[in-house]
Amino acid sequence: MPDWIYMNGKYVKKEDAKVSVFDHGFLYGDGIFEGIRVYNGNVFRLDEHIKRLYDSAKSIMLEIGMTPEEMTEAVVATVRKNNYRDAYIRLVVSRGVGDLGLDPYKCEKPEVIIIVQPLALFPKEHYEKGIRIVTVPTRRNTPDALNPQIKSLNYLNNVLVKIEANRAGASEALMLNANGYVAEGSGDNIFIVKNGVLYTPPTYLGALEGITRKAIMDIAKKLGYQVIEQPFTRHDVYVADEVLLTGTAAEVIAVIDVDGRQIGEGVPGPITKHLLTEFRKIVQIEGTKVYQDLEQKAQI
Ligand code: PMP
Repeated sequence: MPDWIYMNGKYVKKEDAKVSVFDHGFLYGDGIFEGIRVYNGNVFRLDEHIKRLYDSAKSIMLEIGMTPEEMTEAVVATVRKNNYRDAYIRLVVSRGVGDLGLDPYKCEKPEVIIIVQPLALFPKEHYEKGIRIVTVPTRRNTPDALNPQIKSLNYLNNVLVKIEANRAGASEALMLNANGYVAEGSGDNIFIVKNGVLYTPPTYLGALEGITRKAIMDIAKKLGYQVIEQPFTRHDVYVADEVLLTGTAAEVIAVIDVDGRQIGEGVPGPITKHLLTEFRKIVQIEGTKVYQDLEQKAQI
């Protein structure tokens, strides 16, 4: 069965899903995106992803040409069309086709693309044993240049960081902001645990407002942990009891070594494990039901 890709209101086969070389998303990274996940037929926190997409669009003055409700429906319909219950969804809106100049107003209409793919999960070992990360030389984009709160198609900052991490033999990186405060990973948010309290950097320091970050904050509070948004440094990370990364792809991953400093006992800590267990329970049942009408029809 082909993977059906949603392109501007139509479904096209994967091999036919192509964009123009004059698309400003391709030429300049001029566009925005979301990475979303469907678990057990439930799209996790879809409303929050759609909200973030439209906030990013507003910030870069991109008129999507669809309402958030239409976009929500398009995401659900594309998952259904591909008949996946567990998958990763990539929603991309580029500025569209223009000329070779930068001017976005010469782009006629945005390109809206929804890709649904079976998950390439992180290795099980990452969750069981935790991962080693390194601080990289490249700093997070400053909010007054390209705000990391905009989930833009311009991911070169993150790509460079990924290269630096990989060259250092690590799968993820710790990014600092221009002032040396901890910002986030190349594709995840960071939390540290100290004396039973969770800390995460405020997003204005240079981090994406992660949907998983928010979910983990909600879950942690429900489980009775205190969560504080507060700036912290590499030193605070080194001496934390636990360090964890959160993201749509990563979910919750324990970090057991940062720049050669062992974190805690060098194994995933109890609070990280508790949060991951609870997160995995919740994603199975919460969320926007993709097959609800079909299930209801089947019952009639
Ligand atoms: N930071 C960056 C730079 C990311 O790319 C991502 C992944 N979208 C995250 C954090 C985590 O965000 P979320 O939990 O919404 O996936």
